[in-house]
Amino acid sequence: MSLMGQMMHKPLLISSLLEHAERHNGDIEIVSKRVEGDIHRANWKSIALRSRKLAQALARLGLQAGDCVGTLAWNGYRHIEIYYGVSGSQLVCHTINPRLFPQQVAWIIEDAQDKVIFVDSNIFPLIEKLAPMLACVKHVVVMAARENMPRESALTNLLCYEELLDAEDGQYQWPEFDENTAASICYTSGTTGNPKGAVYAHRSTVLHAFAAALPDAMCLKATDTVLPVVPMFHVNAWGIPYAAALVGCKLVMPGPHMDGASLYNLFEQEKVTMSAGVPTIWLGLLNHVKANDLKFSTFKTTIIGGSACPPAMIRTFENDYGIEVIHAWGMTELSPIGTLGRLKSKHADWSTEDKQKLLEKQGKSIFGIDMRIVDTEGQVLPWDGKSPGDLEVRGHWVISSYFKVDKSPLHDGWFPTGDVATIDPDGYMQITDRSKDVIKSGGEWIGSIDLENVLMGHPAVHEVAAIACAHPKWDERPLMVVVKKPGAEVSVAELLAFYEGKIPKWQTPDDVVFVDELPHTATGKIYKLKLREDFKNHKLPTA
Ligand code: ADP
Repeated sequence: MSLMGQMMHKPLLISSLLEHAERHNGDIEIVSKRVEGDIHRANWKSIALRSRKLAQALARLGLQAGDCVGTLAWNGYRHIEIYYGVSGSQLVCHTINPRLFPQQVAWIIEDAQDKVIFVDSNIFPLIEKLAPMLACVKHVVVMAARENMPRESALTNLLCYEELLDAEDGQYQWPEFDENTAASICYTSGTTGNPKGAVYAHRSTVLHAFAAALPDAMCLKATDTVLPVVPMFHVNAWGIPYAAALVGCKLVMPGPHMDGASLYNLFEQEKVTMSAGVPTIWLGLLNHVKANDLKFSTFKTTIIGGSACPPAMIRTFENDYGIEVIHAWGMTELSPIGTLGRLKSKHADWSTEDKQKLLEKQGKSIFGIDMRIVDTEGQVLPWDGKSPGDLEVRGHWVISSYFKVDKSPLHDGWFPTGDVATIDPDGYMQITDRSKDVIKSGGEWIGSIDLENVLMGHPAVHEVAAIACAHPKWDERPLMVVVKKPGAEVSVAELLAFYEGKIPKWQTPDDVVFVDELPHTATGKIYKLKLREDFKNHKLPTA
């Protein structure tokens, strides 16, 4: 018989994060730029009280443990209250991406059987059209005060968020229950087929928050002021609303105001020290600061992930603005953090250039995530930094199955990510491509990320995508689809010549086409499926 530990058993519940924040860091601010356009100031104490009132209101509406509650909302204090009020009271918070096609929004609401939908007033028209068709939705709550409620609406089940809260006294004790209970659901964007739901547990969410805050992860501290640009409707804003409560830092929420000028003003006014978001959003901010010759006075670090961060963007942040970029990799199915680019002590005496090269990779895994790469037969590949293989992961915050899908997604106990990567002997992982985007040229694979990164380093290039284009001899060859910087002039030949000496010659793209803009998915990634469709009849000059 083993000797059992004699420690208190406290289930890892999301409500405990908020209780800690309220008790120990109650006066730390949550500042939101609201849909209404003004700045709203709250703190962990007021958020905690309002979250409890919300839990009471949801009980009054008749919701029961396990019921799903949808949100269609930007980053803001009310959305944080919903995160905690819903999950904390044993309901399931289902964040919905308002940028999905309306049919997809309707589909996932039906799939999750959301009983109540919380919606920001400027997203209301979307749900107003869909709600009458959604039998499961009993109430639509507009996240506004009475005076900002929609004037006229055909919806009969409309409620006002502030009125719901005003009717409660906040005398509510968070219930204690099994830490493996579902806390939230996020659907993948489903660029192919229907979206699939990842169901996060309280336990996995709290463990992820611990890990996310660690020094070699996001390195979140009580002294930080964090502005998550990554939306709360996409994988819980990478866990920041939870990790921030855990460390007791100030949060600054941008609402729907994501353009370069609005973000810059918020960074400066609220003295933001760190941020996180996908590469495309930073393009807008960097363009704005460059065009207006601005500098950042407090912004020190940003986590960039969601798609490959071009090295040129890292250099711009670091050299022009003194901001450290931490390249990170993850996905919806991983809550989402998997790896981050951080150094080990052995790198201390490496040259700056070698360190920079290493940190351009997606990085090493944090405790809680294990990874491996396998070949097409499922054989495990070596960590030599050269052999690319299918990346598989397992760990405390990796899904074991999708919501309502019987078939296990796992391969041999590991979750296949759909990404192709190399891992070097020190455990640094580098994504070469998504397996469905790899360019298959005469039996060899060409990773599109490398090709894109080269052109992102060209001064005339604003954004670029490498896609596979049909070729009579090689099956597929790379075609570069390029958006030029405003006012920049550059020719196809110049861009192709720019590859010389930067990649193996046989990988040099066969052609470049210029477009005004690239299509993006609802999560801000380049929509390659659409591009391949658009250019399926493109004739390569080499064909
Ligand atoms: P969705 O799958 O719904 O588009 P996710 O956010 O779950 O949204 O996407 C995860 C995928 O994004 C990963 O599998 C990977 O292909 C890509 N990705 C995330 N971070 C990076 C990164 N730093 N570099 C390259 N690709 C990345």
